[in-house]
Amino acid sequence: VNSASTNKGRETVKVVVRCRPLFGKELTEGRQSIVTMDLEAAVVSIKCPDSNQLKSFTFDSVYDEHTIQRQFYDESGYPLVESVFEGYNGTIFAYGQTGCGKTHTMQGKEHPPELRGVIPNAFDHVFENISADNEREYMVRATYLEIYNEDIRDLLGDDAKQKLDLKESADGGVYVKDLTEVVVNDVASINRVMTRGFKNRTIAATLMNEGSSRSHSIFTIIIEISEKVNGEDHFRAGKLNLVDLAGSERQSKTGATGARLKEGCKINLSLSALGNVISALVDGKGKHIPYRDSKLTRLLQDSLGGNTKTVMVAAISPADYNFDETLSTLRYANRAK
Ligand code: ADP
Ligand code: MG
Repeated sequence: VNSASTNKGRETVKVVVRCRPLFGKELTEGRQSIVTMDLEAAVVSIKCPDSNQLKSFTFDSVYDEHTIQRQFYDESGYPLVESVFEGYNGTIFAYGQTGCGKTHTMQGKEHPPELRGVIPNAFDHVFENISADNEREYMVRATYLEIYNEDIRDLLGDDAKQKLDLKESADGGVYVKDLTEVVVNDVASINRVMTRGFKNRTIAATLMNEGSSRSHSIFTIIIEISEKVNGEDHFRAGKLNLVDLAGSERQSKTGATGARLKEGCKINLSLSALGNVISALVDGKGKHIPYRDSKLTRLLQDSLGGNTKTVMVAAISPADYNFDETLSTLRYANRAK
């Protein structure tokens, strides 16, 4: 199997897998773990419960149930944030079936502090870098939105139900019209922004009678850096997108019908469009990149391809009864490398 690392032009896509532990209930029910990992070789293997046949995949890194949040951040989040300070646009996606650890990885829990995920760790990191730098001036802004059923909603606005439009600017860039941008000066204020948006995510989900597992959420930190070079002011900006994707589970299995089913198709449309974009980027060779196929990929167009770094985290369950979904997640992630 080839190494998953790709470095074509200036864009880099890293694909990592994180497996959660078996839950209390799974343990009491005597569920078996069918996932094994070779951490050194970055190989994950899954055993088919019927045939006992092993399927193995190689990624950039694999993380087992013993991986603590801090280790995950140091290895997979930290380098991405450093790149943003160098002027790259960086994106980290959490992909996988509902209940496999996407929100645990991205958000985690506030208490105890060891359970804080990538997003709060990135906040600390960003403001540590800024305080340590006496030479440059920084301006940090944050936005937080969700895409539900191909509709965009502002998680920092007054009305979580209002749908926002994607617009194209004169220079071909894509932006969300009327999206709230909050200037943040320290860790405490960005944490408040995140908490407010996270609450709105839940409120919106409840209004629509759904769990938040059916929407994609994107927290974006925009860092503008100004510095004097030979007496002249120079500006550059980097963007960090922290993305908690909707659950990737197939709809047929959940017995969805009617409106639910249609919505499921739209969720999977964004996920398959994202897979297509990343796989086209990884293939390189001046291939057409199908950004326009979904809101998610249009919105993230300037952060996928070009001067960018991407980390795709595939969150998986070790449990035997999740075999189909886990295999499908590993195949999706494997295509992205
Ligand atoms: P998702 O967002 O993919 O639906 P969650 O992140 O909400 O899944 O995880 C489901 C449950 O599993 C949560 O209770 C979470 O705390 C727990 N969990 C997920 N990943 C881990 C992990 N690596 N270590 C410990 N608990 C985890
Ligand atoms: Mg979640």
